Amino acid sequence: MNLSTSIVDAAVEDVEEQGETLSCKKGCGVCCRQLVPISPVEARRICDLVNELSEPRGSEIVDRFADSRLRLEEDGLPQTLISRDQWQHDEVFNVGEEYFSRDIPCPFLEDESCSIHADRPITCREYLVTSPAEYCSCPTVDNLRTVRLPLKVWPALARFDMRSASAKSIPWVPLILALDWATENPDEATDQPGTELFRQFFEYLTDKEIPVVPSTLPGMQSVLPPTRSD
Ligand code: SF4
Repeated sequence: MNLSTSIVDAAVEDVEEQGETLSCKKGCGVCCRQLVPISPVEARRICDLVNELSEPRGSEIVDRFADSRLRLEEDGLPQTLISRDQWQHDEVFNVGEEYFSRDIPCPFLEDESCSIHADRPITCREYLVTSPAEYCSCPTVDNLRTVRLPLKVWPALARFDMRSASAKSIPWVPLILALDWATENPDEATDQPGTELFRQFFEYLTDKEIPVVPSTLPGMQSVLPPTRSD
């Protein structure tokens, strides 16, 4: 989260230096009706967060997720969303457009503001525009100016779930299906040390090979060649 915030802050500083101003502000939740892709680890986090809500708020949010799914199901959209790994390249835009046309607010949207602002998914943090706010309700590639980020954290997180042999593309979960997805896909504990997870994360983030960190801790692998005295 902190890393994502730092990257976003630096990118915003850059666009402001170029004379542009952010249009995003509290009370403007148009983009919270878009198809929001989140990483699998965040989908589980969102599910935990909802389970931790006190009543009646918890049930209210669960009901909103269920209602949204029902609305989508009436037009067969969930099946399209569930089989998203089969999409051709341009289909993501078509499905995104179709989804946005349904005008389904995110279950966490309250008075056009995010009710989980401190815990919102990274995609929500990484999506900012400098084009006039009125264009957000009819976004096109021509009228929308999004803040370009040098690195995006959410796809890097998502790539952790790509390590299975069957995964062909970056796995992501539509925010609107997060509760169902997390229930069907419980977390699998990893036996990899934290340093290795950290290394992999930066490899995914930067798309650059990062050497394995040598360690003297027992049980941890080192890629350093044996020294002469070995
Ligand atoms: S989590 Fe918050 S910021 Fe993200 S789409 Fe939902 S309401 Fe909007």
